[in-house]
Amino acid sequence: MRFIAADGQPFAMPTLGWYIGGQAAGRQSCICLVMMLATPTYEVTTEVTFDSAHFLHDYPGKCARLHGHTYRLQATAGGQRLSREGILLDLASFKTLCQQAVADFDHQPLNEVPPFDELNPTAENLAAHFFRALRPLIEEKGLKLVKVTVWESPTSGASYSE
Ligand SMILES: [Zn+2]
Repeated sequence: MRFIAADGQPFAMPTLGWYIGGQAAGRQSCICLVMMLATPTYEVTTEVTFDSAHFLHDYPGKCARLHGHTYRLQATAGGQRLSREGILLDLASFKTLCQQAVADFDHQPLNEVPPFDELNPTAENLAAHFFRALRPLIEEKGLKLVKVTVWESPTSGASYSE
């Protein structure tokens, strides 16, 4: 069900449900009213890729040697209100924000680019860095940045959220 707010913007109303139960007349009876409030939330996800080399410090394995990845950055934003056109966040602009976030790291040796000249360039640290870079840009649109995932390969990645 859709409602129109005072400013003319559509919004989703929390779901309200109720339940009445009782026992047979003549015996102890009761009426129970249960209200269930659920807040509908929309989420949108976009993805960009970038190519970088890195090596891990203090790592007892082959990832301690210089190697490269085609990283995939996935970001998810969430919110309750859609525009009149039924859009939470324009995916093209969301993707542009993500491309700008990774631009300084594309075709670079990560270990030489701040903050990863000091911070170990693990997928976890990359995800946290991109989350903190993107969060204010998403929040200024009145939305929540739900999660950022950085994939080092098609099957291995790390996520960060706050
Ligand atoms: Zn690696």
